Amino acid sequence: MSTQEHPLGVSFEFFPPNTDAGREKLLGVRDALAAREPRFFSVTYGAGGSTQDRTLETVRRVRESGITTAPHLSCIGSEKGQLRELLARYREEGIDSLVALRGDLPSGMGGIGELRYANELVEFIREETGDHFEIAVAAYPESHPQAPSLERDLENFARKMKAGANLAITQYFFNADAYFHFVERARALGVEAPIVPGIMPITNYAKLARFSDACGAEIPRWIRKQLEAYGDDSEAIAAFGEEVISRLCQRLLDGGAPGLHFYTLNQAAPTLKILDNIVG
Ligand code: FAD
Repeated sequence: MSTQEHPLGVSFEFFPPNTDAGREKLLGVRDALAAREPRFFSVTYGAGGSTQDRTLETVRRVRESGITTAPHLSCIGSEKGQLRELLARYREEGIDSLVALRGDLPSGMGGIGELRYANELVEFIREETGDHFEIAVAAYPESHPQAPSLERDLENFARKMKAGANLAITQYFFNADAYFHFVERARALGVEAPIVPGIMPITNYAKLARFSDACGAEIPRWIRKQLEAYGDDSEAIAAFGEEVISRLCQRLLDGGAPGLHFYTLNQAAPTLKILDNIVG
């Protein structure tokens, strides 16, 4: 997951599909995005290990592209023994990159487990496997929704990086200044590793609004208003989204962002259009 291999340093995130049609479609999406020579692909992991097998199965298929593929791994709700086993399995498969997270436990899904926060998971991975894995962790330019303050969240982020993470990927955001401010503050706390902006292409207003409320990403009023005005005109939403996100990406890169990580939602076209606008 080094940031040096590709000048733009893009990476693409997928979720494990749960239908045959979804699995088939993902192979085409993988190939279309692999042509852009990403630094890595990553595959999300369901809360409490609920997608453990599907995440691994998806990683296997995505890796057939020859591109490094990092499974996400969350610790909440898991015991150390389970995590140890999973790490061993990943090593056996030749996987050498991970995105390490605390995760969120859906209500009624049992206890917190033995590791409470992502910094403890990073420490655990380093204790168990040394330097075998390149580890990416999550960052929140607009603050994690449960954090008592931006300051405290930054301190927690710096602790997580110092526990042995190589790279951070941010939650998506629409305000470039939040990212620049976060990076500046993290540097002041001694974080030297790359902090790559997470980019969410805009394709569907209702889904975006729901996601954003849950993860604490702010949709600026002017974007909200414009998307609302388009109603169910999906072409107009896609065109506007492409323009807004392409401009955001350009601004981030011009301001020194070390790359871009796309939340593709298993679709190639919106990400490819944005890349064409900023690279082409
Ligand atoms: P942490 O870094 O542990 O932080 C969680 C909260 O605890 C924050 O408020 C933080 O300030 C606080 N905190 C951290 N450390 C401490 C400490 N030592 N003491 C006290 N407080 C502390 N979710 C999934 O379920 N599956 C995925 O695959 C997935 N992938 C993601 C990928 C990215 C790039 C991002 C940005 C998020 C992803 N998420 C995923 C969502 C993520 O699991 C949630 O945002 C979750 O609530 C926090 O996970 P974290 O690793 O950031 O937690």
